[in-house]
Amino acid sequence: MTSKEHRVFRFAPSPNGYLHLGHAYSALLNFDLARRCGGRLLLRIEDIDTGRARPEFEAAIYEDLAWLGLDWERPVRRQSEHFVDYARALERLDARGLLYACDCKRSDIERLAAGKQGWPRDPDGSPLYPGTCRSKPRRAAREVLAKGGVALRLDMRQASTLAGQGPSGQGLAWREFGADSPSTRGSIADDPQETMIAADPAEWGDVVLARKDTPASYHIAVVVDDALQGVTDVVRGKDLFEATSLHRLLQRLLDLPAPNYRHHGLVLDEKGEKLAKSVASTALRALRAEGWTPADVRRRVVLQN
Ligand code: GLU
Repeated sequence: MTSKEHRVFRFAPSPNGYLHLGHAYSALLNFDLARRCGGRLLLRIEDIDTGRARPEFEAAIYEDLAWLGLDWERPVRRQSEHFVDYARALERLDARGLLYACDCKRSDIERLAAGKQGWPRDPDGSPLYPGTCRSKPRRAAREVLAKGGVALRLDMRQASTLAGQGPSGQGLAWREFGADSPSTRGSIADDPQETMIAADPAEWGDVVLARKDTPASYHIAVVVDDALQGVTDVVRGKDLFEATSLHRLLQRLLDLPAPNYRHHGLVLDEKGEKLAKSVASTALRALRAEGWTPADVRRRVVLQN
């Protein structure tokens, strides 16, 4: 593992809703792990989705985290101020012939998939893109980004070949500290077993790396930022476990270092369902208004995990 002084953790919420207990768990875990090893904790505002990000949600993030007793380094990186970094990364992928423009609508793809039984789906459940635009004459990514209105997709087959990725994922792996072993339960910042996980980026198909309405996707922005900010330990929810395969592929293609990963369990509601930002009752500010203390929050998230 990386030496003590160099450990850098980050908590990276999207300001498109109020933080809930699940975010609190992630933030507390990052904070505790960083503090325990004398490392740094960064806060990153993932606001590339300018249609959904709102200033009041960003202000609430700072307020809720401070209420929890957390502290983080300033200045905070706001992704919406760094599109040029993501464009640079996309141009590097394009220079290797790995991107193509796509103007298909999500509804077109869904319609195609609905008409065929057993259409392959990505780990998030979306139908895999059939590659309709892959063989069209290629346009420079720079031009596509400048003009907007069209997505850029990764040519997954080419990308996997270039990354030296074997047919069953050999060659690309990540160091995971979040395996759901009993040792991860009961305490918020224990030291779970390290395992190497073989990446399987192909299960994502030709993913979108620049969206029609935003010149970057979460996947490219997160990989670029983690590297630019020198993040050594990515600690986030299990719902992003599969995305890590894709992140490792992009890191390899862009020649970026691979952080350690820890994907923690999700905080669930009484019905055993994942918490959603749309359900106001589990928002930290709603609990605070009900009289919860930061210690109550900590107890609740640790108990479950
Ligand atoms: N911004 C993402 C979210 O709020 C988290 C991304 C990450 O930790 O990699 O779900």
